[in-house]
Amino acid sequence: MPSPVQPIDHFIQGQRAAGQSPRHQDVTNPATGAVTGRVALAHAADVDRAVAAAQAAFPAWADTPPIRRARVMFKFLELVNQHKDELARLITAEHGKVFTDAQGEVSRGIDIIEFACGIPQLLKGDFTDQVSTGMDNWTLRQPLGVVAGITPFNFPVMVPMWMFPVAIAAGNTFVLKPSPLDPSPSLFMGELLKQAGLPDGVYNVVQGDKEAVDALLVHPDVKAISFVGSTPIANHIYETGARHGKRVQALGGAKNHMVVMPDADLDQAVDALIGSAYGSAGERCMAISVAVLVGDVADKIMPKLIERTKTLQVLDGMNLAAEMGPIVTEAARSRITGYIEAGVKEGAKLLVDGRGFDGAQAGAGCEQGFWLGGTLFDHVTTGMKIYKEEIFGPVLSCVRVPDFATAVQIINDHEFGNGVSCFTRDGNVAREFARRIQVGMVGINVPIPVPMAWHGFGGWKKSLFGDMHAYGEEGVRFYTKQKSIMQRWPESIGKGAEFVMPTAK
Ligand code: NAD
Repeated sequence: MPSPVQPIDHFIQGQRAAGQSPRHQDVTNPATGAVTGRVALAHAADVDRAVAAAQAAFPAWADTPPIRRARVMFKFLELVNQHKDELARLITAEHGKVFTDAQGEVSRGIDIIEFACGIPQLLKGDFTDQVSTGMDNWTLRQPLGVVAGITPFNFPVMVPMWMFPVAIAAGNTFVLKPSPLDPSPSLFMGELLKQAGLPDGVYNVVQGDKEAVDALLVHPDVKAISFVGSTPIANHIYETGARHGKRVQALGGAKNHMVVMPDADLDQAVDALIGSAYGSAGERCMAISVAVLVGDVADKIMPKLIERTKTLQVLDGMNLAAEMGPIVTEAARSRITGYIEAGVKEGAKLLVDGRGFDGAQAGAGCEQGFWLGGTLFDHVTTGMKIYKEEIFGPVLSCVRVPDFATAVQIINDHEFGNGVSCFTRDGNVAREFARRIQVGMVGINVPIPVPMAWHGFGGWKKSLFGDMHAYGEEGVRFYTKQKSIMQRWPESIGKGAEFVMPTAK
């Protein structure tokens, strides 16, 4: 008997809430293709309700001392640690990524909660005694109000956790609009926050699509928007949010290169390429999708890359032997196969073709799932569509270049600038690479250089619209506004009106 289809609603004022919109969307298990849930798609009236709950909760929460807000985060941290595997199972069931990778996703989210627990220290202002005789000047940071997070399907726990722990700890109230493809973790996180003692209305969820997003973008009570998703939507969010007077950080798509220099440890480089290209089926904004092979590296490593791509363990994500799970939806799978066809048409050499992968090989019940094997192209050139565009699937494109300078040039010419990596043993090459490359996050012998919680995450060029990166100290700055206060007392105020520009006396 198939399990019943679960309704997946909003989370408003501390509880699950049905919306008024009649629109819904199916949620599927990508491994089996089975419909497991029906998620509500909010319209503007549902968004209004969530924002009103957040607006009503804001004054008291903003007035709560930071140490008490931190205590709620400490409790939440404890609960997320306790329920880590449940969260990871929810991720695998709706996203498809392998369970151990889903556990890793939750762990990276936990890092941000730990960071947010330090909010009293992070919010400390600065003070200058005696800026002028008898006068002091200090700065402090105050929360913005209601802030919204709009998140992609590929990290349904970690990416919301890039946002709400910092925003809430800083004294804001939050409305999350998760991806409708894997919406369940957003509700579970709401329940854990409530158990942790978070007042109702501080964290809310509206499920939905463009309609909900557009309502958030123009809502006068939403003061800031954090967005993570594809570049065209990031651009739309940035422009529309800014036009409506909001602070916006919009993180977009990526095309991440990994340069392999002839002096690199080639076995390490192969391991790094296989893990970072095919982990999470390439559905990571920091996945390596282009290998830039310098000099004779391609001839040396290609047989190994072919062998490893062919023998990837593509299995149901709950199978602990799995290295790669299914693609998130049938639509995503056909978009990726379209890119593979385009690559072949444009003359790239298809060495391993994942299109023939049969779901039955992935496990019992997987016949109708959205499966694709690892795909490997060689002789990709910079004019090809598969080089220029983000594929967001398990497709690795190898580009052969004669030297280091050409490797740096093609990467700097690419329109995306999220992550990049260079494998080498040469310290000077590594240093030059890190300094010259026009990309926001750089790895030296590290294929996926996702910065830790206190460093902040963000790309350059079309991978980020806005000035501030997610989480870390930039995250705290994004979710707070600075106020400067000057103070003196009657004993130090001279007689008479002053008409000239005040200067230090
Ligand atoms: P997406 O852009 O389709 O969706 C992201 C969010 O925007 C979702 O909540 C979605 O419901 C909403 N949305 C979709 N279409 C919209 C529209 N027309 N108007 C308003 N809102 C809309 O992205 P996705 O497919 O969920 O996620 C994959 C993309 O996210 C990839 O491009 C990946 O590189 C990117 N990503 C980037 C980062 C980063 O940090 N730079 C991190 C993770 C994912």
